[in-house]
Amino acid sequence: MAFKESQGYCKKCEENILIRAETPNHVLHLIITIFTLSLWVIVWIGLSIKPKEWRCTKCGNLVLSSEMRGTKECPHCNEVVPQIMATCPTCNKWMGV
Ligand SMILES: [Zn+2]
Ligand SMILES: [Zn+2]
Repeated sequence: MAFKESQGYCKKCEENILIRAETPNHVLHLIITIFTLSLWVIVWIGLSIKPKEWRCTKCGNLVLSSEMRGTKECPHCNEVVPQIMATCPTCNKWMGV
């Protein structure tokens, strides 16, 4: 099984951590696509764009792909916060998305 690794924010560990997701087996999909006369390509695309299951490599907690955009710095107080937060938890000011 192939894996993809990335940096992500784990809610459980409350830190940025190495996260891992299974990647679709493209060779297998290619073979099925050939056998189904390209019909399978619809399923293949669907699987490729579908949000992958990212898991924290430390605790195994499921990290949603929408939550794994990393961190950003608050422009008001320079606090490093998760990318998904629109409002700074430290100074409560709007940071934008
Ligand atoms: Zn974790
Ligand atoms: Zn702030």
